[in-house]
Amino acid sequence: MTLASPPLATLRSALMAQLTAPARFDVVVIGGGATGLGVALDAAARGFSVALVESHDFAKGTSSRATKLVHGGVRYLAQGNIALVREALHERTTLLHNAPHLAQPLAFVMPSYKLLDTPFYGIGLKMYDALAGKAGLGPTEFLGRNKTLQYLPTVQAQGLKGGVKYWDGQFDDARLALVLARTAAAHGAVVVNYCAATGLLHEDGKVAGVHCEDRETGAKITLRAGCVVNATGVWVDAFRQQDGEATGRVAKPMVAPSQGVHIVVDREFLPGDHAMLVPKTADGRVLFAVPWLGKVILGTTDTPREDLAREPRPFKEEVEFILSESARYLSRAPTRADVKSVWVGLRPLVKPQDDDGGNTKGISREHTVLVSKSGLVTVTGGKWTTYRAMAEDVLDKCFDAHLLQPRKPGTTSTLRLVGAGVAVDAQRPKISDAPGLHAYGTEQPIVQTLPGGDRWLGGGVTEGMVRFAARFEYARTVEDVLARRSRLLFLDARLAATLAPAVAAILQEETGVDPQTDAFVALAQLYVTLPA
Ligand SMILES: Cc1cc2nc3c(=O)[nH]c(=O)nc-3n(C[C@H](O)[C@H](O)[C@H](O)COP(=O)(O)OP(=O)(O)OC[C@H]3O[C@@H](n4cnc5c(N)ncnc54)[C@H](O)[C@@H]3O)c2cc1C
Repeated sequence: MTLASPPLATLRSALMAQLTAPARFDVVVIGGGATGLGVALDAAARGFSVALVESHDFAKGTSSRATKLVHGGVRYLAQGNIALVREALHERTTLLHNAPHLAQPLAFVMPSYKLLDTPFYGIGLKMYDALAGKAGLGPTEFLGRNKTLQYLPTVQAQGLKGGVKYWDGQFDDARLALVLARTAAAHGAVVVNYCAATGLLHEDGKVAGVHCEDRETGAKITLRAGCVVNATGVWVDAFRQQDGEATGRVAKPMVAPSQGVHIVVDREFLPGDHAMLVPKTADGRVLFAVPWLGKVILGTTDTPREDLAREPRPFKEEVEFILSESARYLSRAPTRADVKSVWVGLRPLVKPQDDDGGNTKGISREHTVLVSKSGLVTVTGGKWTTYRAMAEDVLDKCFDAHLLQPRKPGTTSTLRLVGAGVAVDAQRPKISDAPGLHAYGTEQPIVQTLPGGDRWLGGGVTEGMVRFAARFEYARTVEDVLARRSRLLFLDARLAATLAPAVAAILQEETGVDPQTDAFVALAQLYVTLPA
């Protein structure tokens, strides 16, 4: 492990002062999910002056609600999308290298119940290995029945013929988002949460900046920019429409949102180090059972959804689908009573021309970058795994559209993120292990030396972690701490609610603002409420 440089403080008054100080930024990014943070980091690392505004917390949108896979996308291979898979496999390796404390390899097993399934899927996965080339994480293996049971001790044994083992990666999505924000800030970007973009500033028919509102004080700010990047995920169409209205054009909606539900259960449902992938469930969708932070994530679904709710809730059929399909493949069926947390994310899928958005499974998972006539750059689609390549693409489009003067090439492919050590420690705990200080990478000693560094509050959270979140990780509310700095809301929502008062007291001492405890307790209740 190498020693970390001292972390940058995220004192809110200082951040707001930095945001209002310059007359103009080269780049203003709207949206602090994977996509926007990736763009901010890429631009800042090339030496541009950058501001990023996020209306809620970083990764409060889709970017904290992924299946947590750093993957090429086995199912996209089945759709024949070779280019997407190849790019994602390359990016998989880059991410595992640049953030080893938050992204690691994970072995998957596909159990087979038909004799021909093992060779059929095995050959597909050998192609996956071939596409990965040097970026491969380990060879695909054909498994007999006994080996499959050894790797997946709780898999349904009745009728099991064998299986296929292959490699992909997994990560902590929200913590990675925070680390991107902090790495961008370390390269000079001004990155602010709870600051909403409320409108675009147009001058002479061109986008010249963004109007914002500090959601804590209500203060209005206008940021002037050479280039405005709309990276608001499923919400991109609002700014595209506003841009169109200001310049007398009609901007057709580009996003077809699709909801994905995940259910979390105890690790005893899937002990061991391997994740399970069912390639074809009853209705043809894939099902994952992934060990993550000491629990198991079961999911997901793919349901078109037009209302862009901040906290979308699952449909009854989605929960039933996940539980009933899990029951078919696990020896002990998880029931509604076993659910520790249920959470939902909205995929920002990009609509093909003239698509009505009715069949989201068929829509490409590739990203799209559009530059409007007035110069608004919109980026959406893609996946977490490819955020870095998407950011390079955005910068290229900004150069092509003469919104930015080209400078040095992108540097993020080898840029190690905050907390990444130089040496990889083979003994380090895995991401599938229970949460703890290891998620802080090289910053672990700093967290431990803060007051209460070794005082455990429960659920893998220490007093020191809460103080670290407030001082260096932009946390303002109990939800920020227990949903995204710690992931306890996603792992065990009832336990998270019991920790809320203790976290609130520490946070309030650090920030002096209302940590919104009641709102968090109500949210935690929602995360354990299944549709009747
Ligand atoms: C169920 C599911 C599972 C997935 N699993 C995986 C996976 O395993 N691996 C993988 O690689 N990818 C996965 N993905 C895809 C991945 O999560 C998304 O592609 C990615 O998170 C999208 O990031 P984003 O930044 O574009 O959107 P978001 O994360 O939604 O970010 C947009 C941000 O813009 C902000 N915003 C909106 N309006 C404003 C405004 N007016 N002012 C300021 N900010 C604003 C929002 O608050 C939000 O934080 C999954 C997606 C889903 C839904």
